[in-house]
Parts: sequence; structure tokens; C-alpha cells
Amino acid sequence: MIHPATEVGFVSDTIGYGVFATARIPKGTITYVEDIFDIRVSPQAFAALDTGYREILDKYSCIDVAGTRIMSWDHAKYMNHSCNCNTIDTAYCFEIAIRDIEPGEEITDEYGLFNISEEVDLACKCPSCRGKLRPSDIDIYHPV
Ligand SMILES: [Zn+2]
Repeated sequence: MIHPATEVGFVSDTIGYGVFATARIPKGTITYVEDIFDIRVSPQAFAALDTGYREILDKYSCIDVAGTRIMSWDHAKYMNHSCNCNTIDTAYCFEIAIRDIEPGEEITDEYGLFNISEEVDLACKCPSCRGKLRPSDIDIYHPV
């Protein structure tokens, strides 16, 4: 479940939709918590799905250490990656704000910590943009 002071908004034609703060969210605030309503798909169930369903899960889910895809039931699934993210996954099924987030600011995440299995081109284009997500990002950026 994503923080209640958030809403979905349009980012750009390239990125699509994202999640924006509707009120100030101070650094250290829990911004997302996995809950029982989230959809969990095992690697075996994922492999048995039709291509269209796999594409949806690839776009809107994260992958835990067991390879299970987790798709939020609420608008948390629209949270975009940024190489200069303002929230980060804790590896304990919740995420926190790593700096103050102002009303209207897009809430972003570090997808490099989501156990991705292949390279993904990035569209965030922030000044520190890495250009691509890589499966090795979790090993490289986790300590940072
Ligand atoms: Zn980037």
C-alpha cells in the first residue's frame, strides 16, 4: 500500500504515468508497504502465463529474492525509476523516503534493487542517469 498522500499523474509521452505527492512527505517516512492484497506470481506461474500477461507483470511488478513477481493492488505500481530517486526499498517489504518530498513532486524508486534479469533502457534522463538498468545494479548500488 502506497502512502495515502499520493496520486497518479501524467509524466510525459515517453514515460507515461507516475506517482506524485499530494502533501509534504518528510525524509524517513514509510512510503510503501507490501500487504496481503498485492498480487504475487511465482516463477512457475509466470512462465505459464500468456505473453500479454507476462508483459503487464514485467512492466508493473518487482521481483523478490525468490523470483516471485509482486504487483501492487493500488497505484504504487505506477511508481517510476529515477537514478536520483527520492524513495528506496529496504529489503524488508517496505520503502522509505530518503529525502523530503514536496507536494507535486514525483515519487521515484531505484529499480536497480528489484532483482531484474535483463538490461532495461532508462527514460528518467536525470543529470546522473545511468542510461540502463542492469542485473548487476543490485550488487553495485545496494551499498550506496
Ligand atoms: Zn536514469
